[in-house]
Amino acid sequence: MKGTERRKELLEWLAQEKNLSLVEIVERFEISKMTAHRDLEALEQRNALKRIHGGVVAIDKPAPPAANGNVKQGTCVICFRPASQHLLYSLTMKNGEQKVACCPHCGVSAHLMHGEEVAMALTADYLTGRPHPAQSTIFVLGSAAAPCCKPSMLTFEDTEMAQRFQDGFGGIIGNLDDATNFLQEEMSLHRDEEGCPHCAAAARKE
Ligand SMILES: [Zn+2]
Ligand SMILES: [Zn+2]
Repeated sequence: MKGTERRKELLEWLAQEKNLSLVEIVERFEISKMTAHRDLEALEQRNALKRIHGGVVAIDKPAPPAANGNVKQGTCVICFRPASQHLLYSLTMKNGEQKVACCPHCGVSAHLMHGEEVAMALTADYLTGRPHPAQSTIFVLGSAAAPCCKPSMLTFEDTEMAQRFQDGFGGIIGNLDDATNFLQEEMSLHRDEEGCPHCAAAARKE
């Protein structure tokens, strides 16, 4: 079987199983571990799957927007607001479970809460709604634009767009670590309250 065919078949198989171990892949295609690793690496670079220790997990493709514009994205694991496409932050756990957050603010809190169990985190570009890995996203933290939870945390795929946004709305630019620190500082100021104080307050009001 040719490499391209094998990779295609592997993706179809993964779509059914949601996760596969390296051993299963090696046995099914009768290839060496090295070849399997190369395949998985190539597929991961195309964002077609996510490698985890000893295997791979499927990446759930974002559902295409429904014709009526009513996209069901689920509710936030932190504050139970409905999650919207341009702010969506989703977490895939190592057991394959999916969790969504209404915005990067709640997403980073959920990420912080689940820590080691998180296999993959995706966040949406605030301008285009396109999902991309949280690890490589550009965060604008604490800007004046707060479409969802406060303090505002928005994510951008593109550094230039993040800077333009910052020019207009202020805040600081950082990566996922900076966002985590930002949130932790914020939470330590409200140590007596459980979870994210802003989300908790918002949830109480609604
Ligand atoms: Zn939330
Ligand atoms: Zn939110």
